[in-house]
Amino acid sequence: MENKLHFYNTLTRKVEQFIPNQEGKVAMYTCGPTVYHFAHIGNLRCYIMEDLLEKTLRYIGYDVKRVMNITDVGHLSGDTDTGEDKMVAGAKREHKTVMEIARFYTDAFFDDCRKLGIKIPDVVEPATNCISDFIRVIRELLDKGYAYESGGNVYFDTSKLKEYYVFSSQSEKELLVGVRDDVEEDVNKRNKSDFVLWFTKSKFEDQELKWESPWGMGYPGWHIECSCISMKHLGEYMDIHCGGVDNIFPHHTNEIAQSEAYLGHKWCNYWFHVHHLNDRSGKMSKSKGGILTVGTLEEKGYDPMVYRLFCLQSHYRKPLEFSYEILDNMGAAYEKLVKRIASLEREGEIQKEKFDEYRARFEAALCDDLNSSMAITVLYDMLKADMSDATKFALAESFDQVLSLKLTEARPAGEESGVDQELERYILEKIEERKAAKKEKDFARADAIRNELLERGILLEDTREGVKWKKA
Ligand code: AMP
Ligand code: ZN
Repeated sequence: MENKLHFYNTLTRKVEQFIPNQEGKVAMYTCGPTVYHFAHIGNLRCYIMEDLLEKTLRYIGYDVKRVMNITDVGHLSGDTDTGEDKMVAGAKREHKTVMEIARFYTDAFFDDCRKLGIKIPDVVEPATNCISDFIRVIRELLDKGYAYESGGNVYFDTSKLKEYYVFSSQSEKELLVGVRDDVEEDVNKRNKSDFVLWFTKSKFEDQELKWESPWGMGYPGWHIECSCISMKHLGEYMDIHCGGVDNIFPHHTNEIAQSEAYLGHKWCNYWFHVHHLNDRSGKMSKSKGGILTVGTLEEKGYDPMVYRLFCLQSHYRKPLEFSYEILDNMGAAYEKLVKRIASLEREGEIQKEKFDEYRARFEAALCDDLNSSMAITVLYDMLKADMSDATKFALAESFDQVLSLKLTEARPAGEESGVDQELERYILEKIEERKAAKKEKDFARADAIRNELLERGILLEDTREGVKWKKA
């Protein structure tokens, strides 16, 4: 672990060196999806960047245990404690049971992850598996005086804490600006910032999922699930907790409040947050409708790997604006990159010094607050550098353990296309020449190149992702 990983810790508001609680081991938790709809590509940006963090940790030698929940109950349509349970709303919309909805969209989520090269966490736990854990923790919070019953619900009493707004010095009013729903005053609360741990009074009579509890039939609040599921699998101390920036308040703020009240000590040292993917009208969100999914991209002819590259080319701490134009450019770059790697001679001597030098540069980029676009620049530099093909191929394979762009899966040129390597190189040269001619508006020359290739039995196609060729 020569390179020391640094990344931005939302808790301390600075880029910090990462030092885990136990040497060489990392306990990591990720807020999982609410499975009432397909994940949109904004949600998936978050999971791609968290995947990058996990794979970087593994690449530099850590033994990582990563846990993720599946929110299949209790997440209300607003970020406050009012609104309808998203799962119930989804089930109503699709005329299915809540559990059918949960199963369908959980499978769809993992399908998307697979297509985007996102590793499934070591432990994935649906909230509905852990009801007895939630009840046990809530009971203890009541015993310790951190919670109270009121109007049928159990609330966390934020006035019992020394500091509630741990992530910033902002006032509640400022923090609530980012919250999605109209804030409806809950008269049962003692303090405005208190939040529900257990509901028995839902505004909705038809709440489908309910469990027996010491406080009556009901269901858990959203925040308690992440605290309990992480403690169940990672114990009392956690190294890294991840999520999107919209989770900072109230979700993560409330998680810290109840976990530390329950444990009686500090719980998690590093908080990693990914900024949003926006479309032209603002933050992409499931509740807006008309969302962009991996399925939409595939229908439009994009390889999901191109979206992963799009995400990796920007920094996780910057908002990212989605556009098809940029995706088209990424598509062309991706195809070229994969072809370049496929053309490398795989057999031969690996130059150890060169290998180590470029691997160290790649690690250094990632360790610098996960600078993924710089890591990709190292990949390009490496492909241009003076070293054997076999070394380059071995490095591409190694980098892809983190980038997961299927860089080395394309078959070598010739093998796949049914033409020899010399002809393939010639075709690629001609494609470049034609591109240059088109740029200079020399369309006669561009057409001549296309016809010349056609005479040799090669057909060019102009696609969204650049020029493709096949045997005519
Ligand atoms: P959800 O399924 O709504 O609970 O969201 C899953 C994850 O996606 C959470 O960590 C959110 O913070 C994150 N997220 C939601 N919207 C966006 C967005 N537009 N861009 C990036 N991440 C998002
Ligand atoms: Zn969570």
